[in-house]
Amino acid sequence: MSKPYALDWTEQEWISWLSLRGESTYIAKQIYRWLFAQNCSDPNLFTNLSKNLRSALLEKLSWELPKVDTRLESIDGSEKFLLVMKDGLFGEMVLMPSEKRITLCVSSQIGCRMGCTFCQTGKMGFKRNISRGEILAQLILANQRLKEMGEERRVSNIVFMGMGEPLDNFDEVVAACQTMIDPKAFGLSKHRVTVSTSGLVPEIQRLGKELPVRLAISLHSPDDERRSRLMPVNRKYPLSVLKEALLEYPCSPRHGITFEYVMISGENDSLLHAKKLVKFLHGLKAKVNLIPMNHFPGNPMRSAEEQQIRAFQKYLSDRSIPAPVRYSRSQDISGACGQLAMKREAEIDMDPRVLRRKRKLETIPTIE
Ligand code: SF4
Repeated sequence: MSKPYALDWTEQEWISWLSLRGESTYIAKQIYRWLFAQNCSDPNLFTNLSKNLRSALLEKLSWELPKVDTRLESIDGSEKFLLVMKDGLFGEMVLMPSEKRITLCVSSQIGCRMGCTFCQTGKMGFKRNISRGEILAQLILANQRLKEMGEERRVSNIVFMGMGEPLDNFDEVVAACQTMIDPKAFGLSKHRVTVSTSGLVPEIQRLGKELPVRLAISLHSPDDERRSRLMPVNRKYPLSVLKEALLEYPCSPRHGITFEYVMISGENDSLLHAKKLVKFLHGLKAKVNLIPMNHFPGNPMRSAEEQQIRAFQKYLSDRSIPAPVRYSRSQDISGACGQLAMKREAEIDMDPRVLRRKRKLETIPTIE
């Protein structure tokens, strides 16, 4: 039987487990602190615990962080990590430092079952959920990397915009968010944790009741027929149903709800679409991120033209809707979610001689 993963346990679970071994609550708090405040997941380094207890921790539980298969540095300063999970599957995270904040984009699932047609992770299909400990492990790895870079700051913002639909893995994602905002752990503000969803309405309602962190909606089209084509989830929860849930979501009046809008040529980029979008957003405090589509091989869709994007943006901002154009960071290193994992999976099946040649052509730096 496989050992429980230490990072999956809440403080309360540590207290219960340790009390059965005759240890005090204080020890549980110390372990929790080592993991999630000190970013240290090696019990050998828990120097304030007895040697016997450290040995027991190593023997009874597993502690490994996902292994970094590949780390790619972008010219824009962000870094993309391809992670190997304990069962050998690939996950991804992206670290995006800037002057004001350090944002980490985390994955919540390996693959995704939502099947959005413009997304490479969607093409991959669903493999499994990522546990709360594996989500938190991404944050620990990112903070360790920042330290290694000589950066004194830690990750300040989390966005669930990596692989997967976070609300399709509701319990694990919410449990991870609890630890992220726990002052005894990572201590992030709940306004700095953003869950991005394709629009799972019952889970949006549940999130609003249980842990109203910031919400982002992958919208991508303001009309049902088109959105259902791009995002099959819309067939189950059409725009009118989604809108009702959003009107009730307890977001902070300052931040409102962010809408992600991938600009696809000829698909959703006309002024008629902008007009429909304004109508959909009526009554909501909204910001729209306009994202030129990241093309990937085999997909006939292309990004909207620059001129079209600017006209769309102007239409929204003239109506007091902030609409920054967000070029996906780390575009030069397969920045959009799923691109690197798909690439690596394909490589695994490749003849090593072909792979060596391909790597040389792409000059992908690999870290073993
Ligand atoms: S856009 Fe998000 S929800 Fe849609 S398939 Fe990709 S990862 Fe899944």
